[in-house]
Amino acid sequence: MRDDHAARPRRLFIGGAFVEAASGETFDVVDPATGQVFAHAASGTSEDVDRAVKAARAAFEGWAATPPAQRARLLHALADRIEAAGERIALTETLDNGMPFMMAKFAGVFGAAEALRYNAGWATKLTGETMQISWPGEWQAMSLREPVGVVGAIVPWNFPFVMAVSKIAAALAAGCTVVLKPAEQTPLSAALLGELIADAGFPAGVVNIVTGFGETAGAALAAHPGVDKISFTGSTSVGKAIVHASTGNLKRVTLELGGKSPTLIFADADLQKAIPAAAMGIFGNAGQVCAAGSRLYVHERVYDEVIAGISARARTLRVGAGLTPGTEMGPLVSQVQLDRVLGYVESGRADGASVDVGGARITEGDHGHGYFVQPTVLSGTVSGMKVVEEEIFGPVLCAMRFGDDDVEAIAASANATDYGLSSAVWTRDISIALKLARRLKAGTVRINGGGGVDPAMPLGGYKQSGWGRENGRAGVEAYTELKSVTIGL
Ligand code: NAD
Repeated sequence: MRDDHAARPRRLFIGGAFVEAASGETFDVVDPATGQVFAHAASGTSEDVDRAVKAARAAFEGWAATPPAQRARLLHALADRIEAAGERIALTETLDNGMPFMMAKFAGVFGAAEALRYNAGWATKLTGETMQISWPGEWQAMSLREPVGVVGAIVPWNFPFVMAVSKIAAALAAGCTVVLKPAEQTPLSAALLGELIADAGFPAGVVNIVTGFGETAGAALAAHPGVDKISFTGSTSVGKAIVHASTGNLKRVTLELGGKSPTLIFADADLQKAIPAAAMGIFGNAGQVCAAGSRLYVHERVYDEVIAGISARARTLRVGAGLTPGTEMGPLVSQVQLDRVLGYVESGRADGASVDVGGARITEGDHGHGYFVQPTVLSGTVSGMKVVEEEIFGPVLCAMRFGDDDVEAIAASANATDYGLSSAVWTRDISIALKLARRLKAGTVRINGGGGVDPAMPLGGYKQSGWGRENGRAGVEAYTELKSVTIGL
């Protein structure tokens, strides 16, 4: 697979054809486990984005008019092809992003197929409504739901394949056409996706893929007057830049942004379950997860036991290349991310936090050139420290304790952040659990378990974690416009 990628640069997919970037330029793709360049991808710029948007526009009317059942069949056909190519896609994702192969396969590849099948169901079930209106006379009033148009989908590097496919699945089900811009760190699985889309039989231009950098290709897509909606997943700062860039034609914008999600463990919790879940909630995918449980609040009666358990897990976690069998945590995605994460650990130290476990780059043995960092637990952290306030996006947990405070005080600590993406509560007290489910300002509240994403469940953030929701009915309806129609009888 590595040789296959090295053999030929990955091209853009525009109007059903694989093409070079207009500039003829490519960029390097690095394996985070070795720090070595192993592939190249076409470096799309504004000219390529313009070509792709025109192709998506040309395909739009035809795709919107395609019978919903036929759109659904094509989504299922793509899901079939993704499942059949599962090994190849997962290998690519692991080389590109560094994540453990099994994670690439199950969360990435099969998650993507599920997203397609789920949204295929919506293609035939999107409806308007009829309404009773109070005007004088007799009226038939109804709403029609229509596709929003050409969608620019911009995705990050942490789960590149499933994120790209999830956006495409909902947009296509609703009757939109798409220009996808993958992250420059991880362009390869999107290039494979182009091949599978072509093979599944989608009309040319329904999906177009432009690999390239954020400041060039991404910014051009966000500003393009021919794009009707941007669906963005990434950092809060770039999300704000997208909002600014989209004002020219007042695009619809949905944003899935960063998080600083709290995990709350009460003294009566089932610690056998809570401890490993809290550990993998921050060490899974090396903490490069938007919903990572990066702030841990533990009742003082069980604090020592919980921290000892998580620290033990951190020490024994098998950190290695994603392709090494048994690896539980891979490298960080890039040198930039490694420097960023280690910089945060230093800032925690400087602010008075203590590093209970981890805190350094791993350089021994095979890890020498890769971007490996130790799973890290910081204690003595308090609000106001940068490590508690800002998204680190690495395997770094900030542990804090609480006493017999009331639910309001605990919710206030958990909510003391600009973010509001996810949260986790561990208690056997149903009343406390449900009170917190109401009080936590987060798009997701997980009570006593549940770490994954499901295409049926709305995903999104309060506050600076985003605008709108992906997945579920809300996620597919976000690719539609609602029109009111009145008929005088
Ligand atoms: P990023 O914001 O740097 O980049 C995301 C994408 O935006 C990339 O494709 C990038 O090329 C592009 N981009 C960069 N600058 C741009 C610009 N000026 N205009 C248009 N596009 C631009 O994010 P990242 O570092 O790739 O990903 C990590 C972030 O993503 C974290 O903050 C994480 O929390 C967030 N994230 C959120 C979710 C969610 O569902 N809420 C899921 C995964 C990741």
